[in-house]
Amino acid sequence: MDSVRFSVLALGDINYTYFCEAGIKFDQQLEELGGDRLLPRVDCDVDYEESSETWLKGIVSALITSRSPQQPAITLESPILETSGDLPTVSTKSADFCRKNPFPSVVLKNVVLNEGNSEKETRHFEIELNGSGLQYQPGDALGVCPENCSTFATTFQERLGFSGEEPICLSGESSISLNEAFIKKLDITKPTPALLNFISEQTRNGPLFYLKSADKKQERTRHLAELDVFDLLTEHPDVRFSAEEVPSLFRKLAPRLYSISSSLKAHPEEVHLTVGIVRYQSRGRKRKGVCSTFLADRTGEGQKVSVFVHTSKTFRLPESGDVPCIMIGPGTGIAPFRAFLEERQAEHAMGRNWVFFGEQRRDRDFYYREEFETWQKDGLLNRFDTAFSRDQDHKIYVQDRMMENAAEIYRWLEEGAQLYVCGDASRMAKDVDRALHSIIAQQSGNGRDGAEEYVLRLKKNKKYLRDVY
Ligand code: NAP
Repeated sequence: MDSVRFSVLALGDINYTYFCEAGIKFDQQLEELGGDRLLPRVDCDVDYEESSETWLKGIVSALITSRSPQQPAITLESPILETSGDLPTVSTKSADFCRKNPFPSVVLKNVVLNEGNSEKETRHFEIELNGSGLQYQPGDALGVCPENCSTFATTFQERLGFSGEEPICLSGESSISLNEAFIKKLDITKPTPALLNFISEQTRNGPLFYLKSADKKQERTRHLAELDVFDLLTEHPDVRFSAEEVPSLFRKLAPRLYSISSSLKAHPEEVHLTVGIVRYQSRGRKRKGVCSTFLADRTGEGQKVSVFVHTSKTFRLPESGDVPCIMIGPGTGIAPFRAFLEERQAEHAMGRNWVFFGEQRRDRDFYYREEFETWQKDGLLNRFDTAFSRDQDHKIYVQDRMMENAAEIYRWLEEGAQLYVCGDASRMAKDVDRALHSIIAQQSGNGRDGAEEYVLRLKKNKKYLRDVY
C-alpha cells in the first residue's frame, strides 16, 4: 500500500463498547501496510453530519493541494462540491428535504390496529407529503424527528434543580432555554459515556464508581443495560451539573427510522407507517419509547411531525414484475410488504406473491386483515399463511408455517422467487433463517452443506433480502 493515500471516516454509536472499532482497525491496518495518511481519522457518533462534513472538506482540500498538474480534476458526485475560492464547500441539494433539513409535515391519520384486549399497541400513521417533493420506493424507511414528553422533561429538569429558563447553546445552534432543549433537542433517556464518567467522578462512593474498574466491565454493562438517565440520577442523588455543562453531557435527540408501509402509487402525496408503541413498567416507573409514544400520543390528526426519506439500497422489489416474491413479516414486520403489494397492484405486476404474517392473536392482532384478504380474493396475493402464536396451547410461528410448506417454498425458490424477511432481528430472523436452511437441505436432498451454498447463492444474487433489527 506504499503509494496509497488514505483517510478514514469512522461511523459508530458512542453507546457501544467498541465505538467506531471497524474504522479504527482500518486506519491502523492501512498505516501498518505503508499507506500515507492524508488526514487523521475522524470518529463519528450518530449525529455524524457536522464531523463528516468537516472531514470531507478537509480531505478534498488535501487532495486538491497535493494534486500534481498532470492529474485530472477531482470530481465527486455526491455530496455536491461547490468550489468557492481556494477551499471547496460541501452542500446537499438545499431544496431537498433530508435528515438535516426534515420536512415539517402533518399527521393525517393515527389509528390503533389492535382490537379488544390486545397485549400489543400497534398503530397505523398516515403522513402528508404534499408540497415536500419527497419521493420514496417500497422498501425505504421514513425518518421521524421526535420530541421528548414535556411532562417527563420538566420532572427531569426539576430533579436536577433547574428552573428550565436557563439559556444554553448547542453546537451550531442559537441559544435556547434548557426546558426547550430537554424537550426538543437532547436525548435525556440514554446516558452518554461522558455523563457516566461525570457521575462516577462526582460520586466516588456511588455504584458507578464502584463498577469502574476493568474487572467489573461485565457487571457494569449488565447494570447499565437496564438504566436510563433518570434511574442513574435516582441512584446517585447528589449529582449536580450546571446548564453550561449540559451540551457536553447529553447528545442530540436522533431521528428514528421506520419501514414505510405504503406505495406512493397507491397513496400519492402520503406516506404510511406501522409502528409498535413501546410502553412498559420498570423499577416502579412507567417507561415510554421516545419516538413511538411521541407519534402515538402527541401527533393526533392535524398535528406536526418532521420527517425525511431514508433510501434503502437493497430492500427492493425485483425489477421485473414477473418475479415471484415470498415475504415473511410477523408483527410490524408486515409494513414493507403492504407497500410491496400496493406497488405490485398499481403496476399490474404479474409475479406471484406469498405472505407469511404472524402475531399473538387472530381476533386482536391481525393488522390490515381486510386489505390482505381482499388482495387474496382478487388474486394479487396467491398465498397467505398466518401464524397466531397465542391462539393455542403451544406457540406457532411463521417458521412453523414455512416448514409445513417446505416443498412449495423450495419450488418457488427454484422458479426464481425473491425471499424477503422483515421484523425482529434478535430471534425471529435467526429462526426463519434456520428454517430456510432446513427446507432447502430437506427438499434439495443436498444436506446442510448444500443448503449453506444455496442460501449463499441466494444472498449473492440478492434474492434473499432482510430488513431486520
Ligand atoms: P414481534 O414481537 O416480533 O411479535 C410478532 C409475532 O412474532 C408474535 O406472534 C410473536 O409471538 C412472534 N415471535 C416471537 N418470537 C418469535 C420467533 N423467534 N420467531 C418467529 N416469531 C416469533 O412483533 P413486533 O412487536 O411488531 O416487534 C417486531 C420487532 O421487529 C421489533 O423488535 C422491531 O424493532 C422490529 N421491527 C423493525 C422494523 C423495521 O422498521 N425494519 C419493522 C418491523 C419490526 P409471541 O409474542 O407470542 O412469542
